Formats: sequence, structure tokens, C-alpha cells
Amino acid sequence: MYKIAISPSQQMDNRYTGVNTTEGVEMEKLGKLCHDYHISKGGESLLFDHKGIDWKKRPQASKDFGASVYLVLHTNAGGGKGTVTLHAKNSPNSKKVSEIINKNLTAFFGKNGFPNTRYSPVIETNFLEARESARLRMAHSYVEVNFHDNAEIAKFMVKNWEPISKIIIDSVWQFRGWKPVEKPVGKPNENKELDIAQKWAVENGIMQDMLWEGSATRHQMAWWFFDFHKKFIKGDK
Ligand SMILES: [Zn+2]
Repeated sequence: MYKIAISPSQQMDNRYTGVNTTEGVEMEKLGKLCHDYHISKGGESLLFDHKGIDWKKRPQASKDFGASVYLVLHTNAGGGKGTVTLHAKNSPNSKKVSEIINKNLTAFFGKNGFPNTRYSPVIETNFLEARESARLRMAHSYVEVNFHDNAEIAKFMVKNWEPISKIIIDSVWQFRGWKPVEKPVGKPNENKELDIAQKWAVENGIMQDMLWEGSATRHQMAWWFFDFHKKFIKGDK
């Protein structure tokens, strides 16, 4: 449920201006943050990296995974200011999600002193990843977050991947109308001693990790096993 795929730039040698880093390195950081944040909201995500599946094969892999939205993450170069989001021709949903991401990222950069100077920030593209996603009927957005050949913007971006990742993912959820899944949290988790016992029980294969946030009884059982082990097996007093 709520499946997305994230394809960060593989341009590991494309250097930033004024910051000692590259587009590939930074986009993999952003991709990981997007991935983790999406999962924290209750979604499922397929995150690619440059050591794994090549970008040309990522749309098909994402379709196989069941992704409902395909995100491509890049930073831009060529002189300019502002977010540019691209989508394939004749893909109205991709245009829609690209518009939402663009609007929200543009507001964020504007608020921080970097207004968008692009004449047309949401544009059509024939890039392979967009084209392939459209052919496979996945809504997509090819996000050029902002211009990394502008030293001020580059410096700002590398310090702000976390809010940027949240804006991108929240925009996807807004587009799809998804609502975060509430995770039940067992009250005994507030008790530190029980957490130690639980951890021990999971690490020793007595309880499964998936039962971690279960009922109070399970927490008490974990504690009981932990105590039993300490006293009678390990011999601790
Ligand atoms: Zn790029």
C-alpha cells in the first residue's frame, strides 16, 4: 500500500559549486531521507542507488514493485534559480504531481530568500525515465530541486535535505490523497526497563521483531524471560 519508487541521480562526478560534493552523493542522501520519511508515514518505498539497478532499468523495476508514483531526484545546472519539475507529455497525473511538488518547493525556497526565477517551472520532457514511467502508467515527477551551480543555493540545499525531503513526500501524499497510517504504540514501551528486556528477547530469537509493539502481556513476558535468563542461566545476581 502507498508504494512509491525513488530514483536519485547517478551523476557521482557532477560537482557542486562552493561545496565539496557531487550531485549523485547529495541525491542519494535526499533519496534516503525521502524513503525513510515515506515509510515513517506508513508507506512502502523502493529506493535505488548507483551501486544497484541502473537508471534506465528503474522504471520497469518500479512497476514490478507496484509503485504508484515514481520520483526522480536531481539538482540542476546551467545558471538559474528555482525548482524545475519535469513530466512526460500526455501524462496528466504526472503533470499534477509535478505541479504540487514545484509549488511546495518553490514556496520553501522563496521563504528562505531564493525566489524562483524560472519562466516555466513545470515542463514537459522526453527524458527516458519520464517517458518510460508514462508508458508503464506510473505517475512521475522528475525533480530538479534547484541549481547546484549557484554557490548560495548549493550551500543552502546541502543543509536542508531533511525539510526538502518532507516537502517532496508530503506533496506526493497530497497528490494521492493518502492519509498517514496510525501506528499503535503499546504503553509499556514508555518503560525503559521493559525496552531492554524486549530488545534482549528479540536479539535472542525468543520473540519476533514484528511483535515489538504488541500488547502489555508480551512486554511482561519479555521481561520475565530476561529476568529468568539473568538469574538462572547466566547466573547474575
Ligand atoms: Zn542531474
